[in-house]
Amino acid sequence: MPEIRRSPSRRRVDAVDRALEAVYGSPEQRSPDDPLDTLVLTILSQNTNDLNRDRAYASLREEFPEWRDVLAAPTSKVEAAIRVGGLSRQKSLRIRELLRWTSKRFGALDLEALRDMETDEIRTLMEPLKGVGPKTLSILLLFSLGREAFPLDTHCLRILKRLAVLPEGITATEAHRVMDGLVRPGRSMPLHLNLIRFGRERCHARGPECPGCPLKRLCIFEGKTSKRSSGGHGTA
Ligand code: SF4
Repeated sequence: MPEIRRSPSRRRVDAVDRALEAVYGSPEQRSPDDPLDTLVLTILSQNTNDLNRDRAYASLREEFPEWRDVLAAPTSKVEAAIRVGGLSRQKSLRIRELLRWTSKRFGALDLEALRDMETDEIRTLMEPLKGVGPKTLSILLLFSLGREAFPLDTHCLRILKRLAVLPEGITATEAHRVMDGLVRPGRSMPLHLNLIRFGRERCHARGPECPGCPLKRLCIFEGKTSKRSSGGHGTA
């Protein structure tokens, strides 16, 4: 019988973390990325896959080696440079808006000053920015600033619902709020990376490979087919 629990708890998140760690180990902590680069990359990742995100980013940096070049160019040129990543009009506008805001707020195209700010202060400052939703902000906090934050992409949301950590129907914004403080200190990055790997390799949106799954005892989705539910994917 799978364990069923509807409200998230540290203990359950911990159980998921330990089960994934037993399978995949603990991925190495990445060295912090440049905060502005991270934000631009994350804007480019919206509604596309990693490959096209990376192609769009490489093309953007090739066309505009400095961020000031992006601001100086017409939006249509920026849009053309990132077309491979999809939604290029919207993303080009958001990137330029982010760069303009950064320059105005910090007096340079540089977000290193965020390292000296408290996490709550950063959230309050950046949440109103277009294109900087809870996932983007959590990625910035975790991967660039080394803070305790837990980004929930489509894999994380789907799997955490199947494992009864998050309730079905929860929005991505609520889920980010709920997960805050549930992950053991220092475990956000490995758990996030392991969930993504697990989602890609086994717990697919459609047709998860349930037989022999090492997380079966925690799962409330086991045995169901994708015809009934795919576990709430697609909200990241
Ligand atoms: Fe995913 Fe199936 Fe494993 Fe549940 S039993 S976690 S649905 S692969």
